[in-house]
Amino acid sequence: MPTNLRRFDVENNIANSGDSIALDTRPAVKHRSQRTGYGQVQIAPAPEHFPIEQMHDSYGRRIHYLRISLTDACNLRCVYCMPENMTFRPRHELMSDEEILHLVAVGASLGVEKIRLTGGEPSIHPSVVELVRGIASTPGIKDVAMTTNALLLDKLAQPLADAGLHRVNISIDTLDPDKFHRITRWGHIEDVWKGIAAAEAAGLRPIKLNAVVTRNFNDSQDVVDLARLTLERDWEVRYIEMMPFGEVSDFQQTNVVSYREIRDTVEAEFGPLEEATYDFVDPSRPFRIPGAVGTLGFISSVTEPFCQGCGRVRLTADGKLRLCLLRDDEVDLLTPLRQGATFDEMRELMREGAFHKPWGHGLATGDFAHNRSMNQIGG
Ligand code: SAM
Ligand code: SF4
Repeated sequence: MPTNLRRFDVENNIANSGDSIALDTRPAVKHRSQRTGYGQVQIAPAPEHFPIEQMHDSYGRRIHYLRISLTDACNLRCVYCMPENMTFRPRHELMSDEEILHLVAVGASLGVEKIRLTGGEPSIHPSVVELVRGIASTPGIKDVAMTTNALLLDKLAQPLADAGLHRVNISIDTLDPDKFHRITRWGHIEDVWKGIAAAEAAGLRPIKLNAVVTRNFNDSQDVVDLARLTLERDWEVRYIEMMPFGEVSDFQQTNVVSYREIRDTVEAEFGPLEEATYDFVDPSRPFRIPGAVGTLGFISSVTEPFCQGCGRVRLTADGKLRLCLLRDDEVDLLTPLRQGATFDEMRELMREGAFHKPWGHGLATGDFAHNRSMNQIGG
């Protein structure tokens, strides 16, 4: 289990590791006091140029993908994600834009190439467009994506695309307006359709639609209706097994629908699915209804985990490096950053944390993530 390294631990770690680490040897930069709107904090600016050295975990997995939760807050309250009376973190506990960009540069210097912005709802972040611009222009970052409920995409899709966003995954669990309202507790599905249209028009492709399947909410006709969308549209509809977290774990464990069950429901309507081209590092296993334009993906995190190809780590909105979605292991990056750690020290913290990324979840033995709900991690 990784622990947070203090600054002198980081130095010892570098000295003892025997690795040839390409450190930034420029004279120490002066720490900058920044007014961020999140309070007065001291952070060292990230260098504009840095050596890139690929990080791996202890199983040899290449860690190249960072998912960043921009906020734990959301404009919906999906039943499988958070309680209705959720209390969100105060702003000063969350990463500022400068801190996010600093940590993106740290990740990029360690071989992170892909960034996905998530939350909470990332599009409600007040400066999301500028953040995307900053992330997309960070040396080494090749792909910037976002997972969103799409409610604000009608206005934001084009500015986000212009700023450098490449793709969006959009959450839509049913095509039935009443059920959508019930699952999200107050959402209107027409806002999602407008968002999808805006994303397509802005070229944020390929469009992927995420559906968490919840028993007695959307586990029968809804699954079939979503699959039917792919007959004529070049979209990937992805069914996600519901995972248990924190306070809502009882609900989630009672109402989980397995990958096998979802697939059986789809095949009962459309016949056997054909396998589509599989990207080893993608958690979604893709299939196609024979003759369909788009594809169906199954994300079976609970019943058939896909740890072998997992090169992801997550950054929570309060600046913790989360090593596995389904385990509580985290490394605090924000505190040392605010205490004045240098770029190289942050680099060692991230590298050391990622090295300890765990393998496999413990759901079968009742061992799941207790410390956060999904909106606080970022899916
Ligand atoms: N608000 C955005 C959205 O809904 O797309 C991004 C954040 S949301 C936490 C990211 C993804 O996690 C969404 O696709 C959502 O459906 C999924 N999700 C939320 N709670 C989940 C759970 N308990 N199990 C599995 N997926 C979940
Ligand atoms: Fe909000 Fe996304 Fe969670 Fe739904 S799944 S409550 S949209 S963060």
